[in-house]
Amino acid sequence: MPQRDLILLGPPGAGKGTHAEHLQNQMAYLHMSTGDILRAAVAAETELGKQAQAYMNAGELVPDELVIDLVQERMTQLGAEEHYLLDGFPRTVAQAEALTALVAELGRTAALVIYLAVSDEEVVHRLGGRRMCRKCGAIYNVDRDGLDVGDSCPECGGELYLRRDDQPEAVRNRLAVYKQDTQPLIDYYQQRGQLVTVDGEDGQAKVSERVAELAWGGQPD
Ligand code: ADP
Ligand code: ZN
Repeated sequence: MPQRDLILLGPPGAGKGTHAEHLQNQMAYLHMSTGDILRAAVAAETELGKQAQAYMNAGELVPDELVIDLVQERMTQLGAEEHYLLDGFPRTVAQAEALTALVAELGRTAALVIYLAVSDEEVVHRLGGRRMCRKCGAIYNVDRDGLDVGDSCPECGGELYLRRDDQPEAVRNRLAVYKQDTQPLIDYYQQRGQLVTVDGEDGQAKVSERVAELAWGGQPD
């Protein structure tokens, strides 16, 4: 089975980052997480970071043209034999349309879109318990991993912290933004025949296995 270009879609906390990490360990993917790229830009205080920071802290979306530019820049460097794995992009219909046009321009087959479905209650619960490594970006959960703010990352020893946008008020805002701006992409990709839905609450190992199966030539619903 041929490996497929992939887009991971789903609410914040659906497990996009976690499953992207698993996939990358199993097969060669150019993993592009716009959230990670933007957080790195904020930490490095680049021009992009300065422009993005206030939006991110509030749980708002960064303007389309900024994220479209950074994805475009990386996608055009992709070799024909390489595969990409997008996580956190696209997040608006305008971003999806820009991506569709870019993919066509590059002469690539449309990606498979894996929609990780997770309920609102679960999102609020997961994000409240989520802790991130300041150094390597690894994601942990207070309940699942028994690790909390100030503990060291088992991967790299970095310090774990609570992302500012994982605090309750920003979480509520991110869910609202998701519903308004990102949820319409489910229809967009369904209509284009690119969408596969995976139950994101089905246990991490099972979801991971299903995602890997799909990455190797799975068909849309
Ligand atoms: P999560 O998926 O957990 O909500 P991300 O790490 O993907 O978090 O994104 C964090 C923040 O970065 C978002 O709330 C938003 O401000 C910004 N961001 C990331 N990707 C995009 C995007 N494609 N379009 C606009 N803003 C984005
Ligand atoms: Zn780490």
